[in-house]
Amino acid sequence: MAFVTSKEIMTDAYRNNYGIGAFAVHNLEILEAVVRQAEKLAAPIILQTTPGTVKYLGIDRAVQMIKATAEKAKIPIALHLDHGDSFETAMKCLRAGYTSIMIDGSHLPFEENIELVKRVVAAAKPMGVPVEAELGTIGGVEDDLEVSEEYAMFTQPSDAKTFVEETDIDFFAPAFGTAHGLYKKEPKLRFDLLEQINKMVDVPIVMHGASGVPDVSVMEALKYGVAKVNFSTELKVVFVEALRKVLSEDPDVSDPRKYFVPAMDEVSKVVAQKISLLGSANKGGSGLDHNRYLERSNR
Ligand SMILES: [Zn+2]
Repeated sequence: MAFVTSKEIMTDAYRNNYGIGAFAVHNLEILEAVVRQAEKLAAPIILQTTPGTVKYLGIDRAVQMIKATAEKAKIPIALHLDHGDSFETAMKCLRAGYTSIMIDGSHLPFEENIELVKRVVAAAKPMGVPVEAELGTIGGVEDDLEVSEEYAMFTQPSDAKTFVEETDIDFFAPAFGTAHGLYKKEPKLRFDLLEQINKMVDVPIVMHGASGVPDVSVMEALKYGVAKVNFSTELKVVFVEALRKVLSEDPDVSDPRKYFVPAMDEVSKVVAQKISLLGSANKGGSGLDHNRYLERSNR
């Protein structure tokens, strides 16, 4: 149907208190497994790659593969750079055709984070591409960056307000207790903090590190402005577990389809469960202005 910007998808979700699944894509198989399931459920989705995955896939190939898939799909799909690690990476992805950009300056001092985000927004906005940014420190491992959970720093609501207003970002990723990677124990999310942050900012909130967050907590977060929920680890885990199973049961298998297809099926199952949790099924199409995007992308 359409390769759109994340904003076109997120605006409706934010207004109507449901969530958009943002799924990490590492290869053709995961891409196909995610999109096939989202199409079945008529759910709009965001597909995202970290800078590490951009390097692995090759930036042009990543864009072309996902754009070609999106244009044939029956649902709106956006391509998002997750945890953009520099102004240069963000610009490369913007030029290559990403329809959504995250710039992560959360490791920088407050003012420097704001300055970095402002530069990216100044470049992305005229192109109609929305920007996500993070304040506070979300724990865990993302690409090669590790933040131990005890050093993860919660976002202060008053800082959140200043940050969102000064940067003019489209989506905000605060630290309220989630972490990247596998949780060692059940995460305790600070809903009190999330509620205060949501009152202070008027843009959709992004939940990072949602793999392993209990379903009830994800649903609770949707009440407080969360409209984009990132899933990566869970997809990778079920994919590789299915591969291991096939390869150990049949050590002589060589045809990639024989071991990739069962792995893709497992990814699709996780995606189905997440979409139902987020309430985004049958939302693909509502409130979206595809023609506006097509005009822009044809320029
Ligand atoms: Zn993240």
